[in-house]
Amino acid sequence: MIVVMKKGADEAQIQAISERAAGWGLKAHVSAGAEVTVIGLIGEEAAAQGPALEMMPGVEKVMPVMKPYKRASTEFHPEKTVIKIPPARHGDRGLNIGGPGVVVMAGPCSVENRDMILSLGAFLKGTGAHMLRGGAFKPRTSPYAFQGLGVEGLRYLAEERSVVGLPVVTEVMDTRDVEMVSEFADVIQVGARNMQNFNLLKVLGRCRKPVMLKRGLASTLEELLMSAEYVMSEGNTEVILCERGIRTFEKFTRNTLDLSAVPVLKRESHLPVVVDPSHGVGHWDLVAPMAKAAVAAGADGLLLEVHPDPAKAVSDGPQSLTPKRFKELMGELELVARAVGRNLH
Ligand code: PEP
Ligand code: MN
Repeated sequence: MIVVMKKGADEAQIQAISERAAGWGLKAHVSAGAEVTVIGLIGEEAAAQGPALEMMPGVEKVMPVMKPYKRASTEFHPEKTVIKIPPARHGDRGLNIGGPGVVVMAGPCSVENRDMILSLGAFLKGTGAHMLRGGAFKPRTSPYAFQGLGVEGLRYLAEERSVVGLPVVTEVMDTRDVEMVSEFADVIQVGARNMQNFNLLKVLGRCRKPVMLKRGLASTLEELLMSAEYVMSEGNTEVILCERGIRTFEKFTRNTLDLSAVPVLKRESHLPVVVDPSHGVGHWDLVAPMAKAAVAAGADGLLLEVHPDPAKAVSDGPQSLTPKRFKELMGELELVARAVGRNLH
């Protein structure tokens, strides 16, 4: 962090900065020039103190020199993070997220019933999908809309894992449910609306399951990376970043899927990046083109909503693919993956 003092700032003001910095455990290096004085502050937490320093008397401006995210950054950790998902059943192969293979997580928006989860899970496994998605706790805009089956839904997902063999990704919304959800899930999803629920992120940072963080509806990529930092700073380094579209003025799509997030996040961070075109566009007919584009852009995985009968879905039917369309898409994705030196295995 560099603090540039105002022209004519006096000794006492410069001294006050050094003392304040020492109070935060930072070292201050003062370079007094003929015109202005510049103070370099060194220490882990320097970046967080910018706003406080800016308000001190005699300060012209404060300039960060390091990224505010550390554990999530390529700067701090140049090797790519590969998250290993253990085999769902004895004898199955495990799964790598962030390796050469593109991981496809597919399933309904909400877990609706046992039959659906078991039969759709078996179908999806047959198409080559790698994980089953499905929400048991649903963050709905309306309190009157279906809120999810809760623990009953988690049990169906766990049954699918042991019978069919697809590992499970499911959302947690409440700190009080983290322990329970982590017993059932292979990857714990944090929904867009909770991306900055910092208490939830801290609790997830202390659990031992990978966490998939979905980008908030109006969050910058830096904010997404800072949320990853929250989880990682508590000890859990297995974080997956998920682009799922952001709010813009555009009305033809539910959100605006920001595919530039993929190369940006992959430049800034070593963490795997997943794209959710279903929530990104909101209409099933737009999902396949954006899924293919996401793989072409370098995504490590896709999160796709698939429903046996989208017209009857309790949530997100309009953006859900039919099983038939999903199967076709898997064939198309394989070709795109190969074209960019990846695969779908
Ligand atoms: C979901 O994946 O079903 C979901 C609720 O997503 P988001 O948090 O991105 O809206
Ligand atoms: Mn959904």
